Amino acid sequence: MHIRPNLLQQSIQTAISFIYPSQCKVCKEHLSLDAKPYICMSCWKDIEYINPPWCEICGGPNDANLCDSCASLPPRYGKLRTIAVYEKTIQQAIHLFKFEKRTSLRHSLVQLLLDNIPNDLNLQDYDYVLPIPIHKKRLRERGFNQSLLLAEGLAKATDIKVLKDALVRRKNTSPQSSLHKEARQTNILGAFELKNSDYIQSKQILVLDDVYTTGATVREVVKILWDADPVEIDVLTLARTLHPY
Ligand SMILES: [Zn+2]
Ligand SMILES: [Zn+2]
Repeated sequence: MHIRPNLLQQSIQTAISFIYPSQCKVCKEHLSLDAKPYICMSCWKDIEYINPPWCEICGGPNDANLCDSCASLPPRYGKLRTIAVYEKTIQQAIHLFKFEKRTSLRHSLVQLLLDNIPNDLNLQDYDYVLPIPIHKKRLRERGFNQSLLLAEGLAKATDIKVLKDALVRRKNTSPQSSLHKEARQTNILGAFELKNSDYIQSKQILVLDDVYTTGATVREVVKILWDADPVEIDVLTLARTLHPY
């Protein structure tokens, strides 16, 4: 069959624009071929990383060793570290990945994690990375657990193993993002259940989540994990909001 060149060109163009939408989802500028999926390099380079000085425990930007909150009521994890501030590019990237199911962003997000692991968090120290589980109903709706995909990416590039069945989410809670700070802690109470504590006992665990907001989910997970008697629990999140509401 003979296809007219301009028609062929048009079809290729359509196919390319289907795979690579032409506009950056953040700045709306034209996407060049070296761009990340959906996001231009200029926006990607604009990601605001969280650097020291930070609170030694919760990792929030802070001039003193400990922030007021950790000094008065220390969390039960050893330390929490976060890669970037949850705004603009990273907020849009996580939104596209998680809610619009643009899983092609996964590799860029995993690379972002790997390239920016803080110096005081040594991945070799951990026996397992434990992605925060989502409820099976949400898993059915979304098709994937975003934290598990990140954990698997991390595991692939390092020696750390993913622990995905030891903790389950038994309560299908309202999305934390829809709630105010006080309601989040109540909402998440009793949401998780230990299924297999043998994997956690005497182990170093790194809990992984995509976004840290008020910390209610992380606190609840860490509380439950301590029942299994691990050596230590630290937390790594891709992004965090600096002004929890
Ligand atoms: Zn852009
Ligand atoms: Zn702190």
